[in-house]
Amino acid sequence: PPRGETLLYLNGVTKSFDGFKAINDLSLVVARGEMRAIIGPNGAGKTTMMDIITGKTRPDAGEVYFAGNTDLTRHDEAEIASMGIGRKFQKPTVFESHTVEDNLVLALSGQRGIFSTLFHKRSESDSKRIDTILETVRLTAKRHLPAADLSHGQKQWLEIGMLLAQDPELLLVDEPVAGMTDAETEETAKLLREIAETRSVVVVEHDMHFVRALGVKVTCLHEGHVLAEGPLDQVSADPRVIEVYLGR
Ligand code: ADP
Repeated sequence: PPRGETLLYLNGVTKSFDGFKAINDLSLVVARGEMRAIIGPNGAGKTTMMDIITGKTRPDAGEVYFAGNTDLTRHDEAEIASMGIGRKFQKPTVFESHTVEDNLVLALSGQRGIFSTLFHKRSESDSKRIDTILETVRLTAKRHLPAADLSHGQKQWLEIGMLLAQDPELLLVDEPVAGMTDAETEETAKLLREIAETRSVVVVEHDMHFVRALGVKVTCLHEGHVLAEGPLDQVSADPRVIEVYLGR
């Protein structure tokens, strides 16, 4: 896909809960093939923003567009997922008793159904895709192990792999490195950078070492609004950003 083209567009988005503006005139533009890191103190509105993009929460006002002219505010969660927006929540939700490979097979099958997927011969293209995904998420050597045997970090990678099986154009990832070892955190930055070569990725993250390792443009939210945006060095040196982090 051409770089510089807008994939995700939020403009003037507002969402209140009982009169409290969790999202307040929020604007965000993510290009095709861009990875963006979203930071901001607790309560800044990061989760609500992700909920609005994925159709879990409907905004009170504002525009949310995907891939040109698709108005996401007119679609529900299932429709938005099927349009190519995948979301990874903080807690991995893999099928523990299934092998790593079968978790990917199940994710790949989607609407085809579990029985036909697990008990019928796999097509060659499906097998190839699974091999590629296993490589991407660093789990080729673990493919025949039950997911229960994976470390916490590897389960996070498996879940990213399960999202990749659905071939999303935009991947939303919520605090992927929480609870990971330093080595896993470093590997996750590499892995996401590789994924972002062919897809757009939005990562919500608290771990600043990890955000630095991502090396991408950062958006800092505060009180449901963009406080600062740019390279991490610039954003983290912004007096307003320092103030909201110190003032916690
Ligand atoms: P973050 O993810 O950045 O920590 P959230 O989006 O979770 O921030 O929350 C933003 C603000 O909106 C917080 O003050 C939170 O308490 C409030 N909020 C979020 N969801 C709801 C809800 N369903 N009902 C009431 N208040 C909510």
